[in-house]
Amino acid sequence: MKEFFDCLKCKECGRTYPKEAQHVCEFDFGPLEATYNYHKLKKYVTRQLLESGPHSMWRYEAFLPLEESPTVGLHTGMTPLIRAHRLGKVLGVKELYIKNDAINYPSLSFKDRVVSVALSRARELNFSIVSCASTGNLANSLAANAASSGFKSYVLIPADLELAKVIGSLVYKTKVIGIRGSYDKVNRLCSEIAGKYRWAFVNVNFRPYYAEGSKTMGFEILEQMGWEIPDHTVICMASGSLLTKIDKAYREAIICGLVEDKPYAIHGAQALGCNPITAAFKKGTDLIRPVPNPSTIAKSLAIGTPADGFYAIQTIRRTGGFSEDVNDLEIIEGIKILAETEGIFAETAGGVTVGCAKKLIEKGHIPPSGKIVLCITGNGLKTADVLKDHLQPIQIIDPTIQDFDKIVAL
Ligand SMILES: *Cc1c(COP(=O)(O)O)cnc(C)c1O
Repeated sequence: MKEFFDCLKCKECGRTYPKEAQHVCEFDFGPLEATYNYHKLKKYVTRQLLESGPHSMWRYEAFLPLEESPTVGLHTGMTPLIRAHRLGKVLGVKELYIKNDAINYPSLSFKDRVVSVALSRARELNFSIVSCASTGNLANSLAANAASSGFKSYVLIPADLELAKVIGSLVYKTKVIGIRGSYDKVNRLCSEIAGKYRWAFVNVNFRPYYAEGSKTMGFEILEQMGWEIPDHTVICMASGSLLTKIDKAYREAIICGLVEDKPYAIHGAQALGCNPITAAFKKGTDLIRPVPNPSTIAKSLAIGTPADGFYAIQTIRRTGGFSEDVNDLEIIEGIKILAETEGIFAETAGGVTVGCAKKLIEKGHIPPSGKIVLCITGNGLKTADVLKDHLQPIQIIDPTIQDFDKIVAL
């Protein structure tokens, strides 16, 4: 494979670091990020080259921080981007698209992208045990990919997650450790463990590698839009990493001449019950006030101290986007209109994206013209319980034509 991955670099001071299992700058504690030789990369990548690559996220491998060809998650990505005529009509916009990672492979969320990169890198660096702090989907993806690639795995989650997400990890025979407390507590414990055991924590010591995987969702959007940056992209946020990386993909595509440089807006979406990024954005500050006790049905987004929140706000501001939030009822409404109009069953995080998009359009932050992409990041079957009291009950009848006639006539 052709390699363009240069080094890790502190996002604050720019100091560079070797390509190891390291994630913070020793001088100012800034996060480390993968950087590339854009001079060479620009000469190498073309639309034709990328289009002729594998039907997976790995067609963008030149933009990913690996030294060898990938070994994990070879079937991940290239999820559908669909034109959402019917939802667009309901929301009052002309050209709406859904990027649907609810059907990503193998574990039905965008987290398959980040895990594929992190575990491929973990193998390159000779780690044999992989782990993560998770709000559910990351645990599912790590467990599934570890099972199929022969890593031993441990996942740490808040003990009160949805049953489907707990089972969706246990089934792969990973060790599931439920922590009494919020995600922030889980994450803090993982940092401590990572200091003591030589494990690859995909979102702690492997975070620079993990995070780059999210860019592939951005590259796919560009290619599937016919190599054009959408005017508006709406992205739900937990740590804020996905949002910043979709923007990084857009900027790298501009640098490499894959798309025309033009103004575009990146919009953030959070649940009202855990909205540290949106609250800071709306207050006009960069200073994120942690949410110590998140309370929302969107558990996958319930991170009270978002690691990339500061950078997410910078991205939203720089691009002229907006950050919105929605309450639990609005989340359920969002899930329902997406399902009823487009036949897509998203998890609560998708309800946040759709609900916030609706508000952004109503308030004029997204105009009715222009190309709009909503990023759907997880699958509704994993959080189906939240809909229990919000749908029509099923009708139960005796197996007779008379009973059937009666209910059809109604
Ligand atoms: C993890 C997750 C996100 C957001 O992830 P960040 O990169 O931490 O902002 C969004 N949607 C779903 C379904 C997730 O599981």
